[in-house]
Amino acid sequence: MRQNWAGNLTFSAQQVHRPAGLDELRAVVARSRRVKALGSGHSFNDIADTDGTLIDVTALPAQIDVDTASGTVRVAAGVRYAELAATLHRHGLALPNLASLPHISVAGSVATGTHGSGDANGSLATAVRALDLVTGDGDTLTLSRAEDADRFDGAVVSLGALGVVTHLTLAATPSFDVRQQVRTGLELTDAVEHFDAITAAAYSVSLFTDWRAPRFTQVWLKQLDGAPEPRLPWAAPAGRPLHPVPGMDPVHCTPQDGAPGPWHERLPHFRPGFVPSSGEELQSEYLLPRAHAATALEALAALREAVAPVLQICEVRTVAADGLWLSPAYGRDTVALHFTWIKDTAAVLPVLALIEDALAPFGVRPHWGKLFTVPAGRVRDAYPRMDDFRALVAALDPAGTFGNAFLRRLFAA
Ligand SMILES: Cc1cc2nc3c(=O)[nH]c(=O)nc-3n(C[C@H](O)[C@H](O)[C@H](O)COP(=O)(O)OP(=O)(O)OC[C@H]3O[C@@H](n4cnc5c(N)ncnc54)[C@H](O)[C@@H]3O)c2cc1C
Repeated sequence: MRQNWAGNLTFSAQQVHRPAGLDELRAVVARSRRVKALGSGHSFNDIADTDGTLIDVTALPAQIDVDTASGTVRVAAGVRYAELAATLHRHGLALPNLASLPHISVAGSVATGTHGSGDANGSLATAVRALDLVTGDGDTLTLSRAEDADRFDGAVVSLGALGVVTHLTLAATPSFDVRQQVRTGLELTDAVEHFDAITAAAYSVSLFTDWRAPRFTQVWLKQLDGAPEPRLPWAAPAGRPLHPVPGMDPVHCTPQDGAPGPWHERLPHFRPGFVPSSGEELQSEYLLPRAHAATALEALAALREAVAPVLQICEVRTVAADGLWLSPAYGRDTVALHFTWIKDTAAVLPVLALIEDALAPFGVRPHWGKLFTVPAGRVRDAYPRMDDFRALVAALDPAGTFGNAFLRRLFAA
């Protein structure tokens, strides 16, 4: 049976379809009682699972239509950011930000609120201007920011609950160059005291720690070419390329030599030509208001002895607030606390519960595509527009075609 990228989930779908075109996709949806779209399968939980028909959208024609006049691109749902970025760059265009790896599909990333880092950078979903969907009866529907303002904000980070997205129109910016460098040895006390100065030091900043000591092992700084040299007196230059996970070969990582290079070759941590790991990992991520960053980091430090034995690496990033109803950065400038775990679910789950309890006072929102055990009621309470989202699901998918166990748990009373 088909598995997700990490191999920790075997999909329970009765059949998998790989439609080669829109008409075939519409016919499959129309005749299926339950359907779920699958992108590149990089999620770690059952958000993309279904007991009905799984539709692998990566077989749809990999259309990427760049409109340089309007600075937009209409891209097929299953296209991966690596291909999209290379095409945009050839046209002199860019996306404002990318996630840590470029192998993930555009529609799947947008549907889960996937993000990179940067105080002023919104999640990848904030670039979306229009969506084309196939709804439960096999009809097509286009929703756009220009024409469907409020409903559109509810439909972008969709958790796959509204239909199968076939195309997305994204706003692009003029292409730009980025310089990447890595610093080492940032003490937790300095990170806590100077958090705002550290995350403002470059266009995109990531702090890494294995929590084996109260310090950050690495700080990755991605600065726009031409912008001032990052000021970070609390950490020393690495002097050589590093992989964030101790002991792993940095050959998989994007250049860290401070030399300027195209945005898409510096904003992700990992190169498109390499698989960043063999899938021997699990991931979780918790997003909370950045005003609580210092207190949250101290709360995590207090759990170090439980966390470190099952942790490969923890990454701290920032995300700008947005207005997309189910975005984990909805309505608040955000700090994102990410964990790459060893691939041992039984050992990791109790540690998730400890972290979730420690972060509960901060109104934490778990990443939709990663592992979490936060009770559904608490997740719902963290999203002011959750009831509106449920109403949108009821309106666009009255027969519950795109419902699955993940959504039933989320919506359960
Ligand atoms: C190694 C690794 C690194 C990662 N790095 C980051 C990171 O830097 N930042 C971050 O935020 N996340 C990160 N993630 C998480 C990842 O971005 C999300 O899990 C994302 O959903 C992956 O996209 P996908 O195409 O694989 O989605 P899938 O796992 O295939 O699907 C996720 C959801 O999207 C829905 N979906 C997919 N395609 C469609 C469609 N066409 N129409 C409607 N719904 C659809 C599915 O139904 C499901 O609900 C990482 C994951 C891995 C494995």
